[in-house]
Amino acid sequence: MTIREIITPENPILRKKARKVTNFNDPRLQALADDMVETLHDAPGVGLAAPQVAESVRLIVVHMPGGTEEDREVYGEGAGELYVVVNPEIVKASRETVDGTEGCLSVPGYLGTVSRCEMVKIRGQDRHGQDFRLKATGWLARVFQHEIDHLDGVLFIDKASKVWEVRPDEEPDGPEAAEAIAALERAARLGD
Ligand code: ZN
Repeated sequence: MTIREIITPENPILRKKARKVTNFNDPRLQALADDMVETLHDAPGVGLAAPQVAESVRLIVVHMPGGTEEDREVYGEGAGELYVVVNPEIVKASRETVDGTEGCLSVPGYLGTVSRCEMVKIRGQDRHGQDFRLKATGWLARVFQHEIDHLDGVLFIDKASKVWEVRPDEEPDGPEAAEAIAALERAARLGD
């Protein structure tokens, strides 16, 4: 396995619509999936789409930490679960939306407020071509929406109502500080 370089918007591949995977026996697909998992863990991040490693194919990996009780509290549904999804599609989405803070490994140093559907139903295939279906809510739903956007060349900064630069020495304070810091950490790891 290899850690791949994560590209930023200067590379036009990030803005291309990625092509559908049709050949699941291609060893390059399996190698790419393995490399993406390793790259995601190395970053570290919670989700990565193939165009972020300069491969314009419809493949995403999602893995939110779930090793501790705190992780499971912060990430909720799907925490600790590794998802490798090929050709993912949103087949149903709730009308209800929620605002949340997002970051992206391909847009380092920035966070933004993005409105996302509270619930999405996803269909696709696993890495071996078997049918994959998932109903996701909350943060998991947000991560999937963010990653699927990457497959169409869409970045969170395109959809954000507000984008700001993060300075590592600036930390929120006040009564909600701990919660705010946890939310920022979680956001910084998204797509990242
Ligand atoms: Zn991203």
